[in-house]
Amino acid sequence: MKGTVYKSTGSWYLVKGEDGQFYNCRIKGKFRIKGIKSTNPLAVGDHVIFELETTNDATTGVIHEIAPRMNYIVRKSVNLSKQVHIIASNIDTMFLIVTIDNPVTTTSFIDRFLVTAEAYGIKTVLVFNKIDTYSEDALDEQLYLQYIYSQIGYECLRVSALESKGIDAIKERMIGKVSMFSGHSGVGKSTLINAIEPGLNLKTAQISEQHQQGQHTTTFAEMFDLTFDAAIIDTPGIRGFGVVDMAPQEVGDYFPEFFALKDQCKFNNCLHREEPHCAVKDALDRDELAWSRYKSYIQILDGEEEHYRTDIYKD
Ligand code: GDP
Ligand code: ZN
Repeated sequence: MKGTVYKSTGSWYLVKGEDGQFYNCRIKGKFRIKGIKSTNPLAVGDHVIFELETTNDATTGVIHEIAPRMNYIVRKSVNLSKQVHIIASNIDTMFLIVTIDNPVTTTSFIDRFLVTAEAYGIKTVLVFNKIDTYSEDALDEQLYLQYIYSQIGYECLRVSALESKGIDAIKERMIGKVSMFSGHSGVGKSTLINAIEPGLNLKTAQISEQHQQGQHTTTFAEMFDLTFDAAIIDTPGIRGFGVVDMAPQEVGDYFPEFFALKDQCKFNNCLHREEPHCAVKDALDRDELAWSRYKSYIQILDGEEEHYRTDIYKD
């Protein structure tokens, strides 16, 4: 039977079968997935094939195959630096919740998040929350950011989780899909999820501004079915970005608006810095691209090694 992993305890996996039933499953034999050294063979979101085994009083499953992953997010394992722990896989949409004030979400944080998501093939929707509280200035800024990011191709939604405004637009985009919600602590993730599905109390990912090494909270991801044909992966304990190195040449490829101009740069390995005849710099000078995006790009290039690191992977 085909199924999807909803929860993992290490040795047992809770798998929802095609028949809609949940089964406790074990793994048979060794699972080796190409190109990744992970401490766990299977993660929440994995599509698997399993066989049912009925003993005296229980029916359990034996997983013997995993389907290729569309994408996956990881965290570094505590002791083994080369190994990662796969938190979740096959995420259709990442909703990044941002607020202009209370707390401030910086463009540098948004851009770093988007680069990571781009690099590893996870579609991101920006959700501007707390629109009920914004001053005129904050509202101007919100609309400006919305303009910038929608120009690049990121869908932007404006909501008030507290007043339940804009919630249907989010729900519509979740139908038939697996979603995750991220954003700084205090942006309203819990409130929003509660507005989407009252009664479902998730802890959600607390992705903070700073890479917080050493803070390795145990992560128990879990998938939840909602009442309107949608699923959420809850990942309490995700604290920061970690793990993968990105070559400097690669970074620009994950800024879609820079990538689109790359072919017009004189040098095909142009880093869009001091090189002559750089199409990105030219477009910036004509105000066709956002300087805030360029600033984030340079920050990532110049940043410490940490800034190249990310915790989202793709096969
Ligand atoms: P989380 O840490 O991201 O889960 O954030 P919470 O959902 O706990 O929300 C943090 C605070 O912001 C709480 O006091 C919420 O009541 C408040 N909050 C959340 N959404 C909104 C909103 O749309 N408008 C206003 N005014 N407050 C909100
Ligand atoms: Zn260039």
